[in-house]
Amino acid sequence: MKFGTKAVHAGVEPDPSTGAIMTPIYQTSTYVQEEPAKHKGYAYARGANPTRAALQKSIAALENGRFALCFSSGMGATDTVIKLLNAGDEVITGNDLYGGSYRMFKRVYERLGIRFHFIDLTQAENIKNHINNKTRLIWLETPTNPLMNIVDIAACTQIAKQHNLLVAVDNTFASPYLQNPLDLGADIVMHSVTKYLSGHSDVIMGALVTNDEKLHQELAFIQNSCGAVPGPQDCFLVLRGIKTLHLRMERHCLNGRKIAEYLQSHPKVGKVYWPGFPSHPNHEVARRQMRDFGGMLSFTLKDDDVEKAKTVMKQVKVFSLAESLGGVESLINHPASMTHASIPREERIKNGLTDTLIRLSIGIEDAEDLIDDLKQALDQV
Ligand SMILES: *Cc1c(COP(=O)(O)O)cnc(C)c1O
Repeated sequence: MKFGTKAVHAGVEPDPSTGAIMTPIYQTSTYVQEEPAKHKGYAYARGANPTRAALQKSIAALENGRFALCFSSGMGATDTVIKLLNAGDEVITGNDLYGGSYRMFKRVYERLGIRFHFIDLTQAENIKNHINNKTRLIWLETPTNPLMNIVDIAACTQIAKQHNLLVAVDNTFASPYLQNPLDLGADIVMHSVTKYLSGHSDVIMGALVTNDEKLHQELAFIQNSCGAVPGPQDCFLVLRGIKTLHLRMERHCLNGRKIAEYLQSHPKVGKVYWPGFPSHPNHEVARRQMRDFGGMLSFTLKDDDVEKAKTVMKQVKVFSLAESLGGVESLINHPASMTHASIPREERIKNGLTDTLIRLSIGIEDAEDLIDDLKQALDQV
C-alpha cells in the first residue's frame, strides 16, 4: 500500500460492536474478565487500550515497522529507550540534539551512571572514534534541531552493526512521510507525535517503532512498568490527524521551499539552514534518505544583533512566537532563549547555535501570506 492509503486506513477497522468507521474513544481504565485471567487481550488500560492499539498499528504501518508503542510524550518514549541500558553503559549521540533530549541525557541519566558522547554525527566515521566495549546505543536525530544538519542514517547503522550496537533515530523533524529509518537499518524509530503526526498543536504524545519482536517486548515491559501511557482521547485525535498527514506534509514541503528561497535572496538575511539547497553540506545524503526537505528551517540576520532578531520575532503577525513545530499553523522560535535554553551557552555556540538564530516551523497557510509577513517584519530591522 502507498503512503496516503496507509495514512487513511492503516490500523482503523470498523468497530466490532457497532460498525463505527472511526475507532471509538475507549474511555475506560479496566476491562471485565470472563473468569480470572481470561479476557479479550485487555486487562488494565496502562497495558493496553483499543483506541491506542489502533493508533499504534497506524504508526507502525507508516514507518514500515511491525510494532509501535505510543507514550504520554516524546520524552516518555525516549526515556523508555534509555531504560534499556544499565549503569556503566555508554551512548553515542549528536552534538546538535533536541534540547529536552540533551537535558534528559545530561541531567537525569548521567547521574544514574550512563555516559553520553555528544559528537558531530554529520560525518558517520566519527562514531568509530568513540566506540568502546561499554558502548550500547547510538541515538541520532536528522534533520537536526535547529541547525538542520543531516546525518547519514544508513552509514551510521552500518558502523553500529559491526559493533552490535542499537541505533535509535528521532524521526520527529522528517515525519514518516519523508524518511523511514527502519528501512535504512535502524532498530528503533522515535517520534514526538506532538509534532507532524498529530499535526494540529493539540496533543502531547510520543511513539517508538521497531521490527524486532524481542526489542518491542522489552520496550513494552518498561512502558507498562514505568507508566508513560497516553490517554484514549489523545489517541483518537492523533488517529484523526494522521489521515491528512500526506496532504499536510506536501504543503509543508512546498511552503518550506518557497520560504527558504525567499529568505536566501533577502538582503538582510545571513545564512539560511535548509537541507534542500545544493550548497547544504549533506544535501546529497538528504536527497538519498528523504523524499523531500520538509517544513523546518532556520536563519540568521546578516547583522548578528540579538535585538534585531527579537524584533523580527515580535513583529510577525501570521507566524506565532511559540515553541513546538509540525502543526498546521506557522511558528517562529528563538532557540537560544526558548527550545534550547537548557544547553549551556558555550556548548551551544561551539556547535553553531548562535544567539541570533531564528527557527521557523512552516505551516500549511498560503505561502504568499507567510512571505508577506516575513517581509514586513524584516523591513522593521
Ligand atoms: C518535541 C521534540 C521532542 C520531545 O517530544 P515531546 O512530545 O515534547 O515530549 C523530541 N525530539 C524532537 C526532535 C522534538 O522536536
